[in-house]
Amino acid sequence: MIRVRKSTNAPASLSTTKQYNGEDVYAQLMEDQHEKCYICERKLVTDYEIEHFKSENNYPELMQEWTNLFLACRYCNGKKSDSFDDNIYPLTADVEEEICQRIDFGKNKTVFTTSVTDVQHDNTVRMLNLFYNGKGGKKLRNLKEERFFNYAKQKVIGFMKIVNDYLVNPTENNRNVVTEELGIDKELLGFKYWIIRDYNLNEIFKDHIIWNK
Ligand SMILES: [Zn+2]
Repeated sequence: MIRVRKSTNAPASLSTTKQYNGEDVYAQLMEDQHEKCYICERKLVTDYEIEHFKSENNYPELMQEWTNLFLACRYCNGKKSDSFDDNIYPLTADVEEEICQRIDFGKNKTVFTTSVTDVQHDNTVRMLNLFYNGKGGKKLRNLKEERFFNYAKQKVIGFMKIVNDYLVNPTENNRNVVTEELGIDKELLGFKYWIIRDYNLNEIFKDHIIWNK
């Protein structure tokens, strides 16, 4: 999960209709979010929905509020539902700085943590761990959660491989391969940024791991 930048112009249908899910809303969010779910950062093809940052159930007055609308995959939208209405706000929070995003391969689970002490950060971390690890760790992950976790795990391993290739053989070409995978349209940047930090490669890739600045 990383910070989101969003067009300041609200799509017309939000004011001319009573709907929040007009085609123009989908199209603008698709462009603004680089065709990715704002929570899990997987590419969206056809399986996407409008996600109300503050849920429709608890905040009906924000149903058509542009700043409350994001695009999420069905998995994330369904799981978030109205259970996480008080998360860090992805348009203003330095998400990739404030939420550590890692995989513990020994325990076969994601580890999301934060050094910021407030309700919004706690909720966001709790939500992300729940999405990837299920309710009570490995044994309780259902099939969908397992597939969701494995997708991220494989992507992270793939990225670690190309970073390792660069470390073994730090050619310009190998550096470009890493840089390419850090492009804003690529998946799972939150995890990738933290790999770069954990390998102490910040200096070399510093222009590619600070999307929100
Ligand atoms: Zn998602």
